[in-house]
Amino acid sequence: MRPANASHPASHIATPIIEASALTKRFGGERQMFTRTPTVHAVNEVSFAVQTGETFAIVGESGCGKSTLGRMLLRLIDATQGRVLYQGEDITHWQGAKLRRLRRDMQIIFQDPFASLNPGMTIGQIIGEPVAFHGLASSGSERRERVAQLLTKVGLQPAYAQRYPHEFSGGQRQRIGIARALAGEPKLIVGDEPVSALDVSVQAQVINLLESLKAELGLTLIMVAHDLAVIRHMSDRVAVMYLGEIVELAQVDELFDAPLHPYTQALLRAIPASSPHERRTKPALQGDLPSPTAPPPGCRFHTRCPHAKPRCVQERPLSETLPGGRQVACHFWRDVQNAGGGTPLVASVSTKLNERLAIYREKQNQPRAAASAEANR
Ligand code: SF4
Repeated sequence: MRPANASHPASHIATPIIEASALTKRFGGERQMFTRTPTVHAVNEVSFAVQTGETFAIVGESGCGKSTLGRMLLRLIDATQGRVLYQGEDITHWQGAKLRRLRRDMQIIFQDPFASLNPGMTIGQIIGEPVAFHGLASSGSERRERVAQLLTKVGLQPAYAQRYPHEFSGGQRQRIGIARALAGEPKLIVGDEPVSALDVSVQAQVINLLESLKAELGLTLIMVAHDLAVIRHMSDRVAVMYLGEIVELAQVDELFDAPLHPYTQALLRAIPASSPHERRTKPALQGDLPSPTAPPPGCRFHTRCPHAKPRCVQERPLSETLPGGRQVACHFWRDVQNAGGGTPLVASVSTKLNERLAIYREKQNQPRAAASAEANR
């Protein structure tokens, strides 16, 4: 897809903070003695641009390539083809000191707060490590002071620096992960399913913490997630991924109110209904995601698409940019819309989604001191 600059208000003047240009990642395919390992086509020619201060979401089913894409943006995984631009500079092949300096600006929060913290290190050591690595403290006491500030910033007591990860709850550990991500004073944070391992109430606390830190520190967030309630609550724009490709990119409201791509429509229909009265007028997503070692030809979604036609099997749909910057990659999205493809969604989606959104909003209104007290219990 082409960059979506036009959809952001300041896009005609601002250089994007990060940009993917035809990014492609294939794993495997190595020659062995008599064979080759299978090639996994994880990400295929993905392009988009994220503006400073945006919350940009990448959504899709497990295995669609969204986490690989997030890591490629951060240069944690090298691209097979394509380019990554950070503030207009091509960083695709940066190494050594340049890459280390870049690491300060771009950080990640991992999905699993239980696995992402070294159990043998104290919290002070875990958060202090990037402070020391980036030369942000000239002495041990300065580093400890910085760790204390970071713990306070994420709503935890500075005294926790002496403790070990196993002494904390899931929500507290994710706050520690956020403090570690903030230690280098980054400009861009990728959250790779950062709340999916937490229960809804704790999710709400962590989401709201991320949002208030974003506002306070002027961060840009890229949220990689499969949870549509989290996406709807947090994002400005959303890229929908299917089997390594972006099939739709839109402002969050237009995507949820009137999805254009049959896959986006299916994803929204897959949200569980709240009650037996809330019946689906169309089936949700059918079948499994095809293997990324053998993606279907033409449109990769054609094996599951209720609107597929012979052309879809033969020809890969190009991304079309609509007025306002919205993008969709489907040969027949207009026909699908004219046939009422997106319209029955709104009622069925909103009830279940709104229950979650109400919990998030309730926590959003909680004073910071009260949220902090709750986090330290
Ligand atoms: Fe469905 Fe064809 Fe559109 Fe792909 S291009 S989403 S198969 S209608």
